This record gives sequence, C-alpha cells and structure tokens, in this order.
Amino acid sequence: MATYPNISETKNLIKQLVSIPSPSGNTDNVISFIEDVLNDLQIEHKRNKKGGLIATIPGENEKEHRMLTAHVDTLGAMVKEIKRDGRLRLDLIGGFTYHSIDGEYCEIETSAGTIFTGTILHHETSVHVYKNARDAKRNQENMEVRIDAKVENAEDVRALGIEVGDFVSFDPRVEITENGFIKSRHLDDKASVAMLIQLMKRIKDEKLSLPYTTHFLISNNEEIGYGGNSNIPPETVEYLAVDMGAMGDGQSTDEYTVSICVKDASGPYHYGLRKNLTALAEENHIGYKLDIYPYYGSDASAAIRSGHDIIHGLIGPGIDASHAYERTHEDSLKNTEQLLYHYIQTKQVDI
Ligand SMILES: [Zn+2]
Repeated sequence: MATYPNISETKNLIKQLVSIPSPSGNTDNVISFIEDVLNDLQIEHKRNKKGGLIATIPGENEKEHRMLTAHVDTLGAMVKEIKRDGRLRLDLIGGFTYHSIDGEYCEIETSAGTIFTGTILHHETSVHVYKNARDAKRNQENMEVRIDAKVENAEDVRALGIEVGDFVSFDPRVEITENGFIKSRHLDDKASVAMLIQLMKRIKDEKLSLPYTTHFLISNNEEIGYGGNSNIPPETVEYLAVDMGAMGDGQSTDEYTVSICVKDASGPYHYGLRKNLTALAEENHIGYKLDIYPYYGSDASAAIRSGHDIIHGLIGPGIDASHAYERTHEDSLKNTEQLLYHYIQTKQVDI
C-alpha cells in the first residue's frame, strides 16, 4: 500500500490535469479523464446536466451527508472576431487581465474538433516597427491571436474551419522543480482536484470507514460563478470548497501551508466549521494560515448565495500570482491533503 500523502503522485496528477484544456464551457475532456480515474478506483459517480461530476462514498451515517468540492474549469477565451488581417480578437472567460496572457501560446479548438496552435500578442508588439510597443495598455482592442497557419485575411481563417465562438485555451507551461515548486497556469483549481482524487484513492486504499456519506463534487463552472451551487443533496450538512489560497501584500497565505479562509468578498465562512478546521490542523501538526481573500468568491459561497442551507467552508493550497503564472510548493499540497484527510473523519458541526 502506498504511503500518503503521496506527493509525487499528486504532482503527476496535477501535470496531467493542467495539460488537458478545460476553459469554463468546454470541460468534457477533463471530466472524462476523471471519470476514468474514478472507474479504476471503483467509486460511484455521475455527471450532472451542467457537465460536472459527483462521486459518492457511503459512510456510517446516511442521514447526514458531507460534501467537498473543487473546480476543474479554468480561465480561457473564445474567438470574438476574425479580423481582416487574419488575426483573432478574443473574449475572455473568467476574471483576469490581458497582460497576464501577453506572449502566451494557445490552442484554438474548432467546433469540428480540429486544434490549431497560436500565440497571443499585442497588435503592435515589434519594437522595430511600432513606437507605442513599450507603453501600450493591453486590452481587448489591441490583443490578438497569431495563428500558426498561412493566413492573410478572414477568408483564409474561415477556410481552416475557425469561427466566432471557438474555444481558446492557454499553454499551462507546467514545470515541476527538483526542490518542490509546481509552476503552471490553472493550479487554480486543478491542484485541488488532484488532491480530492488522491483523497478518494486514500480512502479506498486504507479502507477508511467514513462517519458520513461523503460526496465529492468536481464542478466545472466556478470561474464564471455558478459551479458548485446545484446537485447538493438535501442531507448535506457541511460543504467544504477546496480552492486556492490567495497570496499577495497583506495576505498571510503562503506556498507552504494550507490556507483556511475566514472571509472573502462574499462574507465570513461558517465560524464553527472554521474553528473545527483550525483545531484539527493544530492537533495534527499541520501548517496552516488563516486568511481573508479580498476579491474572491468560491463554489461554497455560490452555494450559499443560491439558497442552500449548509455549513460552508473554504480551504486550499497557497497559490502565488493567481490567474496568471501561478506557483505553489509541495509543502502546501502536503498540508492541504493532511487536513482534508483528517477532516473527512471528523464529526460535523452540530445543527
Ligand atoms: Zn478557483
């Protein structure tokens, strides 16, 4: 039997997940990948109509359930317009800046399923030609995709099968360093999806008996705000979102501990659940930080907002430069996995 947390396996899984493009709205392939993993583990699961996945492991108490969620959709873009010169204008999916994708390699997926590669660039990038190249603000008007194909005009592009509405995904540039850093786009929230999968695997391997029937929702619309707010069984008491901890000036979250969110833009998370999570981390010598994320919402707050009567919480690994060139460290993954492992075996907040 493997010893857990098995971080090299978690890192491999993260690499596999970030390498499957899945901007919100086009997540079928990555969901199929996870279905295959769950089939191998012989864990019961089903897709909801939105295309998310719910896995269920029965527990001793079947009247009260617990739910954990992580989202597999990522930032991305869609072809907004095919320009006269054969370049593509984009419309962004999710909240991020054009600056963060300047120079990035991308893939354009046509509705027939053909993939073209390209690069996202400012229209006036060449310093040898454009005076403005250094100072121009990056925005929808001046950023474009240069397709790796001999195209000179919109007709040439359309002849390839590319059309308005085609999904564009960004090269994750995943790299794992020898000293434990994981650098990649889309660690938000594929790092957490990998950890939930590892947790399910551990439950199976260790033949853990869970106190409550426990659901794992792999949501696929978080970046656009309505990921994990449906298909929550009425028996659910606690609903824990596992999503990235936001780092920056004034934040206590770091790349080495698990971040327990006490409040985000939606308001405070459940006080009792937060206290339980903190106590669990203390008891088990798990490195953690309490933090407030100023411009942030999660699938747990989306669930509350949509009217679910649940006890909601949010924890996750610390991710630097979120929604851009993200990075975390395996220590943060280890601490998050350990907290999750102990959490699923505890008593829920009294109701
Ligand atoms: Zn996220």
